[in-house]
This record gives sequence, structure tokens and C-alpha cells, in this order.
Amino acid sequence: KMRAAAAPFRKTLQELHRRHAGLADGAVATYIPELALADPSWFGISVATVDGLVFEIGDSGRPFSIQSISKPFVFGMALQDHGRDGVLRRVGVEPTGEAFNAIILDEATNRPFNPMVNAGAIATTDLIEGADAGERFKRLMAMFRRFTGRDVHIDNAVFLSERTTGHRNRAIAHLMRNFGMVGDRVEESLELYFQQCSALVTCRDLAVMGATLADGGRNPLTGETALEPSYVKDVLSIMLTCGMYDFAGEWAYRTGLPAKSGVAGGIVAVVPGVAGIGVYSPPLDAKGNSVRGIRVCQDLSQEFGLHAFEAR
Ligand code: GLN
Repeated sequence: KMRAAAAPFRKTLQELHRRHAGLADGAVATYIPELALADPSWFGISVATVDGLVFEIGDSGRPFSIQSISKPFVFGMALQDHGRDGVLRRVGVEPTGEAFNAIILDEATNRPFNPMVNAGAIATTDLIEGADAGERFKRLMAMFRRFTGRDVHIDNAVFLSERTTGHRNRAIAHLMRNFGMVGDRVEESLELYFQQCSALVTCRDLAVMGATLADGGRNPLTGETALEPSYVKDVLSIMLTCGMYDFAGEWAYRTGLPAKSGVAGGIVAVVPGVAGIGVYSPPLDAKGNSVRGIRVCQDLSQEFGLHAFEAR
């Protein structure tokens, strides 16, 4: 059935790309110097289905740093390494309504609010197991490889750029160290966090990663299990409530899809049981979400009735 629908769907993506390519809103992120080099006209869309079909249009093969889109996947890894209780001792599941880099912790528990904002993500990265920095890094890369189905590499220029200028993230990490929300390896975990943000992906990779979550943790291209099926709902529910920072409520209301954005201009969205969507376009709105990325996901959700709570 899906194969028969492939040709018209390809056309739909072409139309969607044409519709939003001319948008001039938003601005490329500049607070990480390397990201400022992106061309605002870069624009790719990809959709991967749970039966292994991949559609792509525009700059779908152009690599960019995954940035915050790494957060839900590292959250999944932390759950596998420590179980639900172990992770929830260090990070909450409550949306903040604040910017992604806000310096706030939950006053009652001293935990960062959720794993999709920087504080919670750094606490989650700290939970990646391994004897030393090298082993932890290799396990992180292996996780990305299970989700994308191919080798993932770090953009060293982006990594160095983040490490040199990441004073705010360093402050957040040390504040959490004070409260025991990250352990003694705080500096090592910060490096690992900068490395995870610098992983190079394409929007095609994002679509496949999304399709893997859509397919209960199984990569539809390789058949490999990337995440234990019992933790898929943990990851998707946090993406739905917290994935788009202080736009999360508006996003859930309008689009109804678990999603995650990153400051390089990527967005991954998941249609559970059906497909993953990956969009890449560097210009961001005031909340740090890709302008074209939001439009594309919103249009796909509306045109195909993908909202999680659509009456069926
Ligand atoms: N590396 C970025 C940071 O820590 C990730 C933020 C993002 O993508 N929103 O600031």
C-alpha cells in the first residue's frame, strides 16, 4: 500500500519544499561561532517509513551538527544504562516554559526540569556509562550508529567552537555538580556533551532515527534494535511535552507529534507506527527552532491528519 503511494508522496514533498523555500524569516544561530557559517538557503526534507522507504528532497544529504536533537537519544541511552528510577533521580520530566539554556533547577528536588533542555541533557550525558572518556564516547557513537544505520562522525571544528565558548553550559554543569545531579566526572561529561552536539547528521539520518522510534526502537533499514522497546514511550512522551523548548505546548497543540529541534536548524518528528520526518534549514525563530522546519512538520501533520489526537 505504501509503495503504491510513493510517487504521489514524492510530489507532495516537492510541493512542500517549493512552498517554504522562499521564506526569509529567522536567523542562523551565531552564539556557537561555527554555526554562523551556515547558508540560510540550505533546506532539506526527508521522510522514512517504518517499512523502510526513504523519501528526500533538497539539501537532504548535507551534513550538519545534530545539536539538541541528540538529547532524546542520549536520554534513551541513559535509561538503558540506569533504568527509569536511576535516571529520574537526576532529571525530571516537567516542561520548563523557559529557553533551552536557562540556568534553573527544580527547587524542591534540585533536579534539572527535563532532559530536553541543556541542564537536563548535561545531567543525562553524565549518566552514559564507561570506564573512561574514550569508552563513553565510543558507546555514544555506537548508539548513533544503531539509530542512523551508518557510521556517525564528529565535526571537530564545531566541537572546538562549543568547547571554547560554552561557558554557560559549564556554569550549568558545575551548578548541578554542587547539588549532586552530576558526578565527579563533570568536566569529562561536559566534553562528551559538546561531542554529542557536534555529531554530523543529514536530515535523511534524522528521518531514519525518527522512523526507528516510530517502529518501537527497531531501525527499519537495518532491522537492528537501537533502543529497548519498553523505553520508546519514555523518549516520545518527553519529546512531545518538552522537545521544542518554550514552544513545546504550542507545538503539541498544533502538530501533535513528538519532535526535537537543534540550533543548527534540524528537526526530527515522529509519527508513531508510521514514519520519521527530518528537516534541515538553519534560520531559527526567537525560540531557537527552525522556521522552515516548523512549517514543514505542521503542513505534513495537517495534510495527512498525523496529530496524535486526531479523531479517527
Ligand atoms: N550545543 C548547543 C548548546 O549546548 C545545543 C543547544 C541546542 O541545540 N538548542 O548550547
